[in-house]
Amino acid sequence: MRFGDPSMHWTSPASADIVRDVDGSYLNISDNEFRRRIRVAYARLASCDLCPRRCHARRLAGAVGVCGAALKPRIFVWNVHRGEEPPISGTRGSGTVFLSGCNLSCCYCQNYPLSQLRHGREIPVDDLADALVELQMKGVHNINFVTPSHQIPQILAGLYRARAKGLHIPVVYNTSSYDDPETLKLLDGVVDIYLADLRYTSEDAGLALSGVSDYVAVAQSALMEMRRQVGDITVDAQGRYIPRGVIVRYLILPRHTDMADAVFGFVRDRLSPQTCVSVMTQYFPAYKAHRRSFGVYRKVTDREFDTVMKAWDSSGLKNGWVQEPDENGGA
Ligand code: SF4
Repeated sequence: MRFGDPSMHWTSPASADIVRDVDGSYLNISDNEFRRRIRVAYARLASCDLCPRRCHARRLAGAVGVCGAALKPRIFVWNVHRGEEPPISGTRGSGTVFLSGCNLSCCYCQNYPLSQLRHGREIPVDDLADALVELQMKGVHNINFVTPSHQIPQILAGLYRARAKGLHIPVVYNTSSYDDPETLKLLDGVVDIYLADLRYTSEDAGLALSGVSDYVAVAQSALMEMRRQVGDITVDAQGRYIPRGVIVRYLILPRHTDMADAVFGFVRDRLSPQTCVSVMTQYFPAYKAHRRSFGVYRKVTDREFDTVMKAWDSSGLKNGWVQEPDENGGA
């Protein structure tokens, strides 16, 4: 794997770590400040406005919001994952924590059993803390919260308690980017890597496919806040990734490749030309996407893949990865 080559597999070499081992930024936050943020985050659940849905569910009283979350952490599974981008999976894997529920309702969600059908179970914060420490003991490079936007208070509380039990590895926030920038400020100095989607540049597409009318405006603001906090991924003198920065994920959707130019243009002009971009070709019509009315009922064609690659080539962006197209038809 070579930093800067946008046409490589995500497979990591089996030897010699490619990620520098560093402590998570949250080790530098004082106990008082950590507790303050937890307090502020939980207070938002009284009439929940944690995310841009602002559905005002009374989560402190146990009510369930539009996202499917209430008061306790709600988790589907935690495990070691080796298929993320190289700065995240490295050679020893990423400690993924798949949260249950989601504040979007994407018709094509590949994680729909947990995000939309809300499979998973509520666990005490202490159990979440123990799970994080357990993942660290397996040797992973980081803790990777997948679909975290609606459970930020619980994540902060889990990290705080896990830190007291010896947790020290960096934190990845793996998000759709439908995040409130003000809420993200609670994560400043806590999250080390933002692994963040930019799904659409058309609000119409966001409404049709993900059920919200303001995805583009929200996600773009959120991404700018993420970059303000952590900057770009860089490498050290030995060529190892330093685990701090934003990685923007762009999932190619069938019949929507006209958005690629605008996605890359936003990254270049509003984030930074050095931003790492991960172009994903793994789309298949999961969940409700087989219905023709959504218009995303098939895989991405080679032609659509080529369209996105042309947009990439002319974007001026240099850093990132592209999943290899599927050899069994479509990209
Ligand atoms: S996080 Fe969930 S409960 Fe809170 S505003 Fe968003 S959708 Fe509603």
